[in-house]
Amino acid sequence: MQKPILEVNHLKKYFDVRGGVFGKKVGEVKAVDDVSFTVHEGEILGIVGESGCGKSTTGKTILRLIEPTEGEVKFEGENIAALSAEAMRKLRRDMQIIFQDPYASLNPRHTVEKIISEPLLIHGMGKKERKSRVKELLEVVGLSDYHASRYPHQFSGGQRQRIGIARALANNPKLIICDEPVSALDVSVQSQILNLMEGLRDQFNLTYVFIAHDLSVVKHISDRVGVMYLGRLVELTDKEKLYDDPKHPYTKALLSAVPVPDPDVEKERILLEGDVPSPSNPPTGCAFHTRCPVAMDICKTVRPTFEQAEVNHFVACHLYN
Ligand code: SF4
Repeated sequence: MQKPILEVNHLKKYFDVRGGVFGKKVGEVKAVDDVSFTVHEGEILGIVGESGCGKSTTGKTILRLIEPTEGEVKFEGENIAALSAEAMRKLRRDMQIIFQDPYASLNPRHTVEKIISEPLLIHGMGKKERKSRVKELLEVVGLSDYHASRYPHQFSGGQRQRIGIARALANNPKLIICDEPVSALDVSVQSQILNLMEGLRDQFNLTYVFIAHDLSVVKHISDRVGVMYLGRLVELTDKEKLYDDPKHPYTKALLSAVPVPDPDVEKERILLEGDVPSPSNPPTGCAFHTRCPVAMDICKTVRPTFEQAEVNHFVACHLYN
């Protein structure tokens, strides 16, 4: 087993809700509510869940693009939540992010060369080396040197995401948080970008935390998968175990909705009742109890702990702990 590169322990991110004439705090949104997991070097950990479940906030909080409310994030053994702004700036060479919407994340007034060379400039690389590094990076992501002088609007969605990937790779990072990197792309382009990212992982020994709402996309690329519901991690295990033998009732319901490309396989769809509750007023006990088809009395009052139900298979559910 490879060594852990990222350890997230009891991470919480609560946002204040303010109201009234004086903008007083009237509540809080528990976007990330006590999330713990470990990612090993060279691994791709998928994090999946419906929109609003807190998966993107988890990614941004890991990088301290959003400050955590509580908890610990260790990168190569060092607690980055305690680092100064200067130390964090240095560490950002090793930890990068790829955003969902490549168009919104690329400055439309800058050429591709300027966009990709920006992180190199921040870390003090000279002009000549920057130019040659941009050329190298464009080739690595399947673009050409002549694209360097163009602007983001001159590219397709897939090409723009390649530019975003090149920028993330500029300083040879070790860990990349991929925040819904293919959700805004056509299905035909999604697999090209996923294949590119898989190839880059092998080529540069990268580690990814791959955040997505699409279970098929996560299945394609991940080694292990974590499922989030209402700011909490409810299941985490190897990809094969999760897709072949899901344990948490929420994971079972999510997977039952994924179409199988085989007319002989009949799947019973588990329909969940009701909407996802508001994270500003989550249900007591198990946050899923208002929609769980097998909820018990204990589920309404006692929050299940996130425990190992089987070897390397963690579940937060009273049916298993
Ligand atoms: Fe359902 Fe109870 Fe398990 Fe929550 S703890 S998923 S409500 S059975």
